[in-house]
Amino acid sequence: MMSMNESVRKLLNNRRHTAALTPAADAWAMMRSNLLCWEEPTLKPKLDSEITCPACGHKEVETMPEDACQYFYECKGCRALLKPKPGDCCVFCSYGDTPCPPIQLDQSCC
Ligand SMILES: [Zn+2]
Repeated sequence: MMSMNESVRKLLNNRRHTAALTPAADAWAMMRSNLLCWEEPTLKPKLDSEITCPACGHKEVETMPEDACQYFYECKGCRALLKPKPGDCCVFCSYGDTPCPPIQLDQSCC
């Protein structure tokens, strides 16, 4: 019976130990580094977006206009005319790997 008590005590000790591994200071440091990451890209939006055509799968890197949205895009693979999906402001938001600059900057869009 003595050995069982011993193992239970060890278990409780382990649990206490893992809880101590995530101190508030660590969470705070993580939060701060996240905040720093957020600030960086808002200053200069990425202007290249790789559009993937939903019809043929063709991929093309396009340069986006910095302060406007592109509503239509003609696929260079199959010539399909792409339009944004409902709720999206432009073809880059719908089919590109990077949303358009106004969205990146968290501004309202055209
Ligand atoms: Zn296509």
